[in-house]
Formats: sequence, C-alpha cells, structure tokens
Amino acid sequence: SIRSVAVIGSGLAGLTAAILLGQLGHSVTVFEKSRGPGGRMASKRVGSGSADVGAQYFTARNREFLSFLQRWAGSDAFLEWPARFRFQDDTLNWQPFPEEKRYVGVPRMTAITRALSAHVDVTAQVRIERLERSGNQWQLVCTEGLNHGVFDQVIITAPPAQAQELLRASQLDGLAEELEKPVDQILPCWAVAAHYSEPPEVDADAMRPHSEVLYWVANNSSKPGRDDSGQWWVLHATPEWTKAHVDAEPGYVSNALVGEFAALTGADARPDETVAHRWLYARSAWSSQPGYRYDAENGVGLAGDWLAGGRVEGAWESATRLVAAIQ
Ligand code: FAD
Repeated sequence: SIRSVAVIGSGLAGLTAAILLGQLGHSVTVFEKSRGPGGRMASKRVGSGSADVGAQYFTARNREFLSFLQRWAGSDAFLEWPARFRFQDDTLNWQPFPEEKRYVGVPRMTAITRALSAHVDVTAQVRIERLERSGNQWQLVCTEGLNHGVFDQVIITAPPAQAQELLRASQLDGLAEELEKPVDQILPCWAVAAHYSEPPEVDADAMRPHSEVLYWVANNSSKPGRDDSGQWWVLHATPEWTKAHVDAEPGYVSNALVGEFAALTGADARPDETVAHRWLYARSAWSSQPGYRYDAENGVGLAGDWLAGGRVEGAWESATRLVAAIQ
C-alpha cells in the first residue's frame, strides 16, 4: 500500500532511501537541518573553487552501488580518482595502498548528493526535534516548534548521537537505548583545507601517515575536474588529536596540522590560505554491522553509514537494505 514517509537527513543514506521509496510509489519528504544536501559528503567553498573537507573518496565494491549512482546522479557527477595513495607503515616506510578503484564527486564531492537530491522533495534548514504520535501516524516537529506534516513511517539517517537525541525526545526510549554503543564509538575529526600557490614537493597525492597528529593528507587539486590555481591540500587530524583539541581555535588547528604536514614531507612551502572545519561526528568505529534497524511496531527505521561499516558505500548499503525490508 502507498504510504507517506518522512526521511530525516539528506546525506547519501537519506537520499538513497528517499529515491528508492519514491520509486516504489510512496510519498516521501526529506528533512535536512543544513542549507544543502550532502551531509558528510561535504565540500567547502574556498578561493574560486571548493575542497572536500568530509569524505575523501569512495569505493564501489558492490556493482549495484555504481549502477545506482549512474542512474540517479548521472555519470557526469563522479569519476575515478587515479591518485598515488601511500600509507606509512610501522617502520615509517611508505607503501602503496592496495589496488582498488576509488571515486570522487566532480567537480566537488557534493555534486553527487546535489544530483541525487533533484529526484526527491527536500525541505532544507529544518531540524527535526521530535516525532509526536498522531493516531497511527507521526507528526514531525522542528526546533522552531513548527509542525511539518504527518507520516506513516519515519526513517532517521542522522549520525547516532543526533538520532539518539531525536528518539529520546520522541519517547522512543527502547530504540534510543540501542544506540548507546554506536554513540560511544563515533570519532571526531578536525579538517583543514590549505592553499599553496607554490605546490609543496610531495611524492604522493594522498597519504595516511604514521602520525599522532595527522590521520590523512590529500592533494584535493589532484582530483578530476578541480581546475584550481595552485593546490588545495586537505589535512585531517587523528581522532585522538581532535579529542584533545576539540575546543581549540580554528587558527591554532590550521597551524598545527600544516606544521605537521611540513615536518612529515620535509616540504617547506607555506600555505597562503587555510580553512578549518570541525566534525564532531566524523567516522564510526562501531564494527557490528546489522545493516539497518527497523522498529515495525512504531514504523521507525534507522539507516546510515554507522550501521554498515562507517563509509560512503555503507551509507548506501544501509539505506538500500532498509528499503528492501520495509518496501
Ligand atoms: P550523513 O552524511 O551524516 O547524513 C546525515 C544528515 O542528517 C546530515 O546532512 C545532517 O545534517 C542531517 N541531520 C542530522 N540530524 C538532523 C535532524 N534532527 N533534522 C534534520 N536533519 C538532520 N567515507 C568514505 O567512504 N571514504 C572516506 O574517505 C571518508 N572520509 C571521511 C572523512 C571525514 C572527515 C568524514 C567526516 C567522513 C568521512 N567518511 C568517509 C565517511 C562518510 O562521509 C560517511 O560514511 C557518509 O557520508 C555518511 O552518510 P550518511 O547519509 O549515513 O550520514
């Protein structure tokens, strides 16, 4: 039977669920607290272009994920990133990443979610605070206290801490309780984009260093379709360093990460512009992978990367499985 469904969150999981449910004939509305779609597949405007400060690339180990993207985002929205990936082993030697196709949005990561969102009805800049019972349905109420319609089913794709808050405010305490572990295991990440007019001399495009400060370093300008003058590098701090500096000033964070990058590569180039972004909920270290969660009695489903491996492809997989289960 045809149902009205609310999807909370317009990251990859939310958009995937909305598209697939719409295809089945259901009436779907997506709610997003931010200005645009994308969630953690995020790009920040910098200079005359943009830098991917969230997800860096994604894999498509499941061929159906690639088919989904080709069909709904279009093959212009993403390309393979044939970069030189290196990681530093315990003896501090640099090793290549395993061979694998790695993809990025073109000309920025958000191109994918932007294209997907054209197929669904997204209400942006509305943060859902709670679900209220209305007979057999749910009424959605935002943080401004406004009602946003009644729905037969609600799918929550927020990261675990935000999902838990929403469930508690909706008196769905049983479901909220289940999120205790995942909430505990979500890792924060300070991200910095740094612009170099004089490119640093580095023998790789993307690196995972053996460092207490830097978790990841990548030449964003080496991604296809960026067309930057100079180079934008994206630096991600380790979860430990981020936790220890979670309330630090952005300028302090930029200096620290840029300094570590210089020390690591021996490159003495200095950036002429930096932008910092703090992710309180970046990556999920939760390893249990049920794929999704559906509370049939209440008509409330949970999907998102944290339910399926903590990556872009997992977010898609989780949403796909939830929709298959509730049809
Ligand atoms: P999200 O993208 O977080 O979407 C949830 C959405 O819900 C958000 O848009 C949020 O604003 C919205 N929302 C939350 N609460 C509410 C509310 N109450 N009302 C309305 N809207 C709400 N993955 C990879 O595969 N490869 C990588 O290289 C990689 N690197 C990463 C680096 C960083 C720094 C970060 C932060 C993440 C990285 N990831 C990477 C993980 C990847 O970004 C995520 O797995 C994926 O984007 C999650 O998608 P999602 O839809 O599950 O969640």
